[in-house]
Amino acid sequence: MSEGAFDFIVVGSGAAGLVGAIAASRNGLRPLIIEKADVWGGTTATSGGVLWIPCNDLMIEQGAQDTAESARTYLHNLIGAGADERATSKADAFLESAPQMARMLTDEGFRWFRTTDHPDYYPDVPGSGVGRTMESARFDGRRLGERFRTMRLAELDLPAINSGQFGSLTRAWTSPGLLLDAARTAAGHKVRTWLGQKPLGNGRALAAALMEIVLARKIPVRLSTRLVDLIVEHGQVSGVVVESGGRRERLEAPAGVLLAAGGFARNTALRKQLQDRDQVWTNAIPEDEGDAFQIATGVGAATELTDDCWWMPSIQVTPEQNGLALGLRALPGSIIVNAKGQRYMNEARSYMTTGKAMYDHGAGDERHWMIMDGKFLKRYIFAELSQKAIRQQMMANGYLKQAPTIPDLARECGIDPAALDATVTRFNGFAASGKDSDFGRGDSVYDRYWADPGHRPNASLGEIVHPPYWAAVVRPGDLGTNGGLKTDQNARVLDGNDQPIVGLYAAGNGSGSPFARSYPGAGATIASAATFGYLAALSAAGRSNNRPA
Ligand SMILES: Cc1cc2nc3c(=O)[nH]c(=O)nc-3n(C[C@H](O)[C@H](O)[C@H](O)COP(=O)(O)OP(=O)(O)OC[C@H]3O[C@@H](n4cnc5c(N)ncnc54)[C@H](O)[C@@H]3O)c2cc1C
Repeated sequence: MSEGAFDFIVVGSGAAGLVGAIAASRNGLRPLIIEKADVWGGTTATSGGVLWIPCNDLMIEQGAQDTAESARTYLHNLIGAGADERATSKADAFLESAPQMARMLTDEGFRWFRTTDHPDYYPDVPGSGVGRTMESARFDGRRLGERFRTMRLAELDLPAINSGQFGSLTRAWTSPGLLLDAARTAAGHKVRTWLGQKPLGNGRALAAALMEIVLARKIPVRLSTRLVDLIVEHGQVSGVVVESGGRRERLEAPAGVLLAAGGFARNTALRKQLQDRDQVWTNAIPEDEGDAFQIATGVGAATELTDDCWWMPSIQVTPEQNGLALGLRALPGSIIVNAKGQRYMNEARSYMTTGKAMYDHGAGDERHWMIMDGKFLKRYIFAELSQKAIRQQMMANGYLKQAPTIPDLARECGIDPAALDATVTRFNGFAASGKDSDFGRGDSVYDRYWADPGHRPNASLGEIVHPPYWAAVVRPGDLGTNGGLKTDQNARVLDGNDQPIVGLYAAGNGSGSPFARSYPGAGATIASAATFGYLAALSAAGRSNNRPA
């Protein structure tokens, strides 16, 4: 396809960039997407692919209980009473525009699916709800033709599941119904693959479904093309300098530039400088190096929330590779302890809350451990820990220990045996009574979402009494950064005087989150990336039509 003329440049091909480009094209601009990797899709394609959109059309169609007012109450509580006018208007812009963004995609042929029972991440905060999370329906990669070959993780051969199945597949051994569901899912995948389909779920379905619209709109995408500079003329951003195949080129963008290039999770120097982290355990893609963030600050962009991340406790598999500790933390038969063998939090709370708590309790500097018993590892299925080969790899790296007794396990981990024994004995008492008197684990609807409903008396509290005992190193990992360039409610990048830098927009993990330091519910990061990509495009289209942005 010949590239044709363009007037709006979108840097990055994840959720923020693809949605921004689609909205730009719908609103009369001619976008060009540039992507530095030789594959498109970003961290978005590797993700669970869910979006948190309160009061979305599917909820309304399906008669779910939600109101714009309750969502607003929830978000305002989360960003805090001290939030300034700009932060509040960003949160409000998200709430108003996220359902519109989703509707725009529906108009373009995107097929949504809703998980009806996912609770918000702070169920005790007024206005919290259930079932605000949406995702792409299963997608057959063949629909993208040649473009499928260059999708990130195109080669993965995984059953296309929806997010509601994450928990139930983990618990497949616990009931015949769940086992049947797992078998059906695996068989369905085999049949579809045998029929020549490329069944995609989660982040790959999302990225592919967005790319199908990009293709239909004939929006050009240049891979292996890296933003290296912004062109600033007469105080306005009017284009970019890119590098591709060792060559530099200037590309004009009279309608503006949208920085949708992810955050700086993989830039260790920036993480040290802005977050004071000596070591980080991120799950973001290797390209998440903060290029756009650094280039924009170089032309005067202000920054916000740069010390924060979308935190995610992670099991360490190799020095370079982590696995998400999601259901693991809530299922009965496990706890997390510090280097002294003490529990210090409700392990089953959201990953944002527990990841932060881990940092606050020193997990960035010392080894914290997930303690599990033999029954836990037999009863539940985990991506990493259930595979013998991965367990052996972890053991060889010293990230997984096994022992016949808790004191022996403690010695393997370098923990005081009496201290760990006392912690486990105390927790076992809570499991027997069904009440965690120390941290309230298993009390909230969120804790129970990832737990085992068949386990009594508390779905999240299980005695740790079945040898052999296991301990896995658990780190305060992340899904990416959630602060970056300072933006307004139209995704315009602001300068040091809080004035928009004309022609420059930012959305996604390289810009300040509209949720301040919170993670309201499943899919909040992608929903915000997509929504502010959408708003950036509307603003740029308004500006280029001489309408107020
Ligand atoms: C395992 C995992 C599961 C997750 N699950 C979910 C979930 O279900 N829901 C949710 O909301 N969040 C989830 N997240 C977080 C979510 O994936 C990210 O926050 C989100 O995808 C970020 O989107 P983005 O558009 O900002 O960036 P990305 O999707 O990372 O896209 C940015 C793109 O910009 C490109 N780029 C970078 N620098 C340049 C440059 N100089 N020039 C050109 N291109 C450049 C990158 O290569 C990349 O392709 C998950 C994360 C992980 C790791």
